[in-house]
Amino acid sequence: MSNHSNAPGYVSLDENGRRVFRYQIIRFALLHAICLLAYFTGVSATDLILCGVLYLVRMFFITAGYHRYFSHRTFKLNRVMQFLFAFGAETSAQKGVLWWAAHHRHHHKHSDGPEDVHSVRHGGFLWAHMLWLFDPRWEGTDTDRVKDLTKYPEIVWIDKHWLLPPVALGAAVAMVFGWSGLIVGFFWSTILCWHVTYTINSLAHVWGSRRYETEDDSRNNFLLALLTLGEGWHNNHHHYQASANQGFFWWEIDISYYTLWFMSKIGLVSDLRRPPRHLVEGKPHPRVQLKTLRKEWEHMSKDYAAGVDQIRAQANERLMALSNTEGCEKSEDTKAVILTRTERAEAFLEELAIDLSVLGSEAETKLDQLQKRFSELKVQAEENLATLRNQLGQELDAYELTLSR
Ligand SMILES: [Zn+2]
Ligand SMILES: [Zn+2]
Repeated sequence: MSNHSNAPGYVSLDENGRRVFRYQIIRFALLHAICLLAYFTGVSATDLILCGVLYLVRMFFITAGYHRYFSHRTFKLNRVMQFLFAFGAETSAQKGVLWWAAHHRHHHKHSDGPEDVHSVRHGGFLWAHMLWLFDPRWEGTDTDRVKDLTKYPEIVWIDKHWLLPPVALGAAVAMVFGWSGLIVGFFWSTILCWHVTYTINSLAHVWGSRRYETEDDSRNNFLLALLTLGEGWHNNHHHYQASANQGFFWWEIDISYYTLWFMSKIGLVSDLRRPPRHLVEGKPHPRVQLKTLRKEWEHMSKDYAAGVDQIRAQANERLMALSNTEGCEKSEDTKAVILTRTERAEAFLEELAIDLSVLGSEAETKLDQLQKRFSELKVQAEENLATLRNQLGQELDAYELTLSR
């Protein structure tokens, strides 16, 4: 791939690059123009329903396939399902799954930095929305970014032949539903899928609310979440990418996740990853929280001890003063009252101190447990590693032996 340190945009392209860019944009415009052929074919109710169905099904494969599975591996698929997800995603004609995942991973690595493939901050709205797609510098796939996927030959194959799924789908639609089905059902929904997908790179970095202080401009947007079947919770997603759900709360509608959840119940997908609670709450790791708690507790117990000392000193002082006053015998009652009150205050503070120390020791026990569990896990991991290393060594020895024979 060529050097991407240039600022994004048409002006930074060389002469050859600009020619390719212009050619691509004409092709893109022509694909839009095909939609106008509906003027000649007519538009029936069936065509519109087909358009809606093809939009929804393919949007699911874009979000669950291209994005949540191939780019982020947020759940598991067997080889057959993995291929079907790749095929399903590519029917929307957004190039190969490897190309899509590699560029998306690049976006997360450089989110809204100068190197970001599609950043509104650096390239402007239209560039982030779609113009970056015509930049020949982004034509190729950086396979180093998708090494976990290139080990499957069928995925490499379907990535290379990415035009096959949309052409097959288009042909099948034309055969069953005729010309109007092809134009309205297939082409309209394809173009719709494209632009709605693009809004996540453009609008979802401009319009909406920010729950988490991520370093990029990502936003949460209810409308975009509905249109994209859950991708509109983009600030959530930039905050924590490794989760299969992007809506973190019940009101954050995430239809792709509901579908994946259902598929996991009937065994089609598995291991849907969810965000850890502290991340959803925007809090630090529990270990850090515990540390802060212990520190706070130490401060509190110190303050408490000082408080009790102070009260005791004050009470004593007042009692002394009282006993020095004339007619002290008469004030015996008052003296008793003060004494009771002081005792009560001390008892109350004592109780508080017990509560605090229980809390503290509970926190300490928890911490000890965690540390113990951690060292157990560490030992276990080391043992497993040693066993694996041994096995591998033996297998290599055996292999060497067969080779030398
Ligand atoms: Zn992502
Ligand atoms: Zn983003």
